[in-house]
Amino acid sequence: MSLIITSPLRGWATTLDSVPDPVFAQRMMGDGVAIQPLGDTVVAPFDGEVVTLHDAGHAISLRSVEGAEVLIHIGLDTVMLKGEGFTPLVAIGQTVLRGDPLIQFDLDAVALSAASLITPVIVTNADAFAISRRATDCAIGACEALMTLLPVQAEARRRSDDGTVIEQAVTLSLPHGIHARPAARIGEAARGFQAELHLLNGDKRGDARSTVALLALGTRFGDDVVVQARGDDAEAALAAIVALLATDMGEGAPAAVAAPLASAAPLRAGQIGGVIASPGLAMGPAARLKQAEIAVAHDGAGDDHERAALLAARQDVRARIAAHADSADGSVAAVMHAHLALIDDPELLAGAEQRIAAGRSAGFAWRGAIHDQIDAIRATGNAHLIERIDDLIDIERQLLSKLTGTPLNGAAVPAGAIVVADDLLPSQLVSLAAMKPAGICLTRGGPTSHVAILCAGMGLPALVAIGEALDAVADSTPLLLDAEMGHLTVAPSPADTDAFTARLAKRDARREAAKAGAANACHTADGTRIEIFANLGTVDDAVLAAAQGAEGSGLVRSEFLFLDRDTAPSEDEQHAAYQAIADALPGKPVIVRLLDIGGDKPATYIPIAHEENPSLGQRGIRVALAQPDLLETQIRAILRVEPVGQCKIMIPMVASIDELRQVRALVEQLRAEMGIATPVEVGVMVETPAAAMTADLLAVEADFLSIGTNDLTQYVLAMDRGNPAVAAGVDAMHPAVLRMIGKTCRLATARGRWVGVCGGLASDPAALPILIGLGATELSAVPGFVAEAKQIIRGLTLTEARAHADLALQCKSAAEVRALARAFEETRR
Ligand code: PEP
Ligand code: MG
Repeated sequence: MSLIITSPLRGWATTLDSVPDPVFAQRMMGDGVAIQPLGDTVVAPFDGEVVTLHDAGHAISLRSVEGAEVLIHIGLDTVMLKGEGFTPLVAIGQTVLRGDPLIQFDLDAVALSAASLITPVIVTNADAFAISRRATDCAIGACEALMTLLPVQAEARRRSDDGTVIEQAVTLSLPHGIHARPAARIGEAARGFQAELHLLNGDKRGDARSTVALLALGTRFGDDVVVQARGDDAEAALAAIVALLATDMGEGAPAAVAAPLASAAPLRAGQIGGVIASPGLAMGPAARLKQAEIAVAHDGAGDDHERAALLAARQDVRARIAAHADSADGSVAAVMHAHLALIDDPELLAGAEQRIAAGRSAGFAWRGAIHDQIDAIRATGNAHLIERIDDLIDIERQLLSKLTGTPLNGAAVPAGAIVVADDLLPSQLVSLAAMKPAGICLTRGGPTSHVAILCAGMGLPALVAIGEALDAVADSTPLLLDAEMGHLTVAPSPADTDAFTARLAKRDARREAAKAGAANACHTADGTRIEIFANLGTVDDAVLAAAQGAEGSGLVRSEFLFLDRDTAPSEDEQHAAYQAIADALPGKPVIVRLLDIGGDKPATYIPIAHEENPSLGQRGIRVALAQPDLLETQIRAILRVEPVGQCKIMIPMVASIDELRQVRALVEQLRAEMGIATPVEVGVMVETPAAAMTADLLAVEADFLSIGTNDLTQYVLAMDRGNPAVAAGVDAMHPAVLRMIGKTCRLATARGRWVGVCGGLASDPAALPILIGLGATELSAVPGFVAEAKQIIRGLTLTEARAHADLALQCKSAAEVRALARAFEETRR
């Protein structure tokens, strides 16, 4: 006769596969269903008796009158809460009826403190009952049918023997006694033997193969437990179980206070510190970014001709700068106005006129006049004035470019060199990258600027915000760029060079090894599935990502289609771009982020009024919602991608659930209009503290959440990601940012939503164990890092990642977290 087990909780029923704990996901304790709770009271799933109730109040097991044993484990790692937030309403041995309240718990408090709220409901005596039907992937109310069990014929499992019992005592090292997870491990070990195995605690005795029986022993840390074995392989079985019980089974609680950590490695002589903008190692000669010289004729072709040429060139350059000044604001506009003044500067004009009158060409005359001024400024020794020299050189070049027809972007660096520059524009970086430099070092710049993002995307190691010490590095000086530790060694000793060469060789070997396993799915060493996706801007990125083994794209930066042009891309153009990316990743999810314009990503054709503080103004989804035509066009283009559903939609810069609702409503409206039956997932980016703190609310209505650590860092730390003055502090490893990430993961996974990370931190090898430990189950990295990320995750267990993340959360600074991460990595070499 079948037995119906009803749901002990209101919530969302899902398979055990989605439980981020191998003990449950791998059915070590038995088969069943998991529930993401929405209610706070666990009720009896059948008529029966309470067999165990853990002291911590987080787990209870019952035996039905038919003999089925079921364990209900509220949340993961909740034994650590030591009962806080749980109120048991029954006692062991009590008879209960279906629907009777068993445990009440504080849903919010437990969600905040537990690794996850997901609640496995497990049939622990699978020998006796098989599950014939179960409810999964659906909302479920308490007392609604969850599983149907059918009794199975018990098989004779153990062999007869001479009846001799051997036994051995062992003191428990498990910090929380034998709770569900260790019980499952003991049961699993016991099932590898034929012998009967029992554990005794005082006057209680339980079968080692029965989770429920082991829980019922009520053991604690330090208890002396006796293991008994009887049967053919009793000796081996006894030894195995005793050995297991003598360990902490990986549960050793991390020290309450993090061990004192070495601070960030001190710099040695010849080293300059910088901020890691794109991780990696590079070795090569310094190549100071120099603009190509613009050659000018010495002699002119007559005064009038040269005067007219100079006048025309000045008019042209003036018009261009004036147009630029009109569309710019803040400091950029101020610089443009200063340049306009220089073009008409009477001193410069007088100096040029003098030379033209002496028979020189307009170009020669202009250069001479500019350099007179530069010499005069240098002679003052006034540092503030000397900074203006760059402006003069800029104006010199713009005019000479116009006069001679020489293009301006003529900087050249040798392949394999390390580019040393004050700062770079994204357009400059793109043209430099074609020359195959080994790395980038900037005096200024920020680690989350778009130059940094581009470097990371290209796998080009980069240090930024190095400061004035970089100015002293002469062209061709040998350099060791360590964008793992965050420093640059100038003119290294042979020993330093040898050590660095060895590290490079090791890194290359690691990359090769990573490539070998690139195509395989990624799991932690203890079996938790972690999806490794790639961040993309173009179809070329998608092709590279596919070759690296990316399991999808966690972020298509669609705004790259919208920038650097005069009009928005049409629906057809967008559709073609998204379709090409989807085609390059067949069968894999592609998450397209809606237009993220504003802040440091302006588009001239999207009018945004002047803002004092653009990062806190019209950005991301705020802009898109204010431009409904643009938004509709983009959503239509995404919905047209085939197969429908492969492309998911992600909303940038979400600060409130209302933004999600508006986008969702538009998606649904357009889907109806376009006759698309297949649902399309809509997720949110967590880039604002508001989104992180309300991740539970967002998770109820979003299909997924993805953390944008670049913006989250700038908003949590109140440090502009593009401001060189604060660049050294903009590190996503700051404990405040990590705590926000941990909180987001806890709140959202408790509501049954997966959380990914698509910001720069997911491409930082040092950060991966922490992100996994905090609860992220999807990482979207730069394409070139995908295979390596898989390799790193495969070498980790979730248990050790969690313990490591716990320590990181206790650190006092980003530098301490990085020191901790280095120490963690060292122990694994
Ligand atoms: C982020 O902010 O982390 C992100 C992924 O978005 P952006 O394109 O702004 O870097
Ligand atoms: Mg962002």
